[in-house]
Amino acid sequence: MIKLTNVSKYYYSKNNVVMALRRINIELKIGEFIAITGESGSGKSTLLNVISGLDTYEEGKMEVFGNDISHYSVEELETYSREYIAFVFQDYNIIDSYSVLDNVLMALIVQGMSKNARLEQAKMLIEKVGLTEQMHQKASKLSGGEQQRTVIARALAKNSPVIVCDEPTGNLDSASANQILTLLHEISKDKLVIV
Ligand code: ADP
Ligand code: MG
Repeated sequence: MIKLTNVSKYYYSKNNVVMALRRINIELKIGEFIAITGESGSGKSTLLNVISGLDTYEEGKMEVFGNDISHYSVEELETYSREYIAFVFQDYNIIDSYSVLDNVLMALIVQGMSKNARLEQAKMLIEKVGLTEQMHQKASKLSGGEQQRTVIARALAKNSPVIVCDEPTGNLDSASANQILTLLHEISKDKLVIV
């Protein structure tokens, strides 16, 4: 469903060229839980950005859901990204002064559901990530692991087939990190989750 063939990406600056991706070949499918590992600077974020349509590349071919998107314009890539990809970053993109519920509700507003349907869906997602008891707490009062669960609930609210997580456990202790990975693994049963 997402297939990269010999994809290379370079960063150009004044005096030098960095080869951030060198002939990447990878095929990813719904239902898979994929971990991309490597030392700092090895190109993990670059690869995630390319897969997500947030960044372009210089060489190779990329196919998503049966479409060859190698020659997509920036606008077309944005549309692909908006439709197919939800993000979980390590610097939690949630609103501190909002409750868990309001953070998730906000992510549902764009979906054009009725207010009641949104509330029901938000509660379901919050239950899925194990935060029912904390639903009315402000995000700023949550632990790191709980904040990341809120981010995951928001990503799920987008209802996209692919969830891309760039170092989702980077700021967490190992116990919380394991719980988050277990949750992402469960989620991958009917989505593609790339960490
Ligand atoms: P990782 O996420 O594995 O730490 P990155 O994908 O961020 O690695 O970076 C891969 C390489 O590309 C590194 O050498 C990094 O310095 C370089 N790089 C990343 N982003 C840029 C950029 N915007 N401009 C120039 N070089 C970059
Ligand atoms: Mg990175």
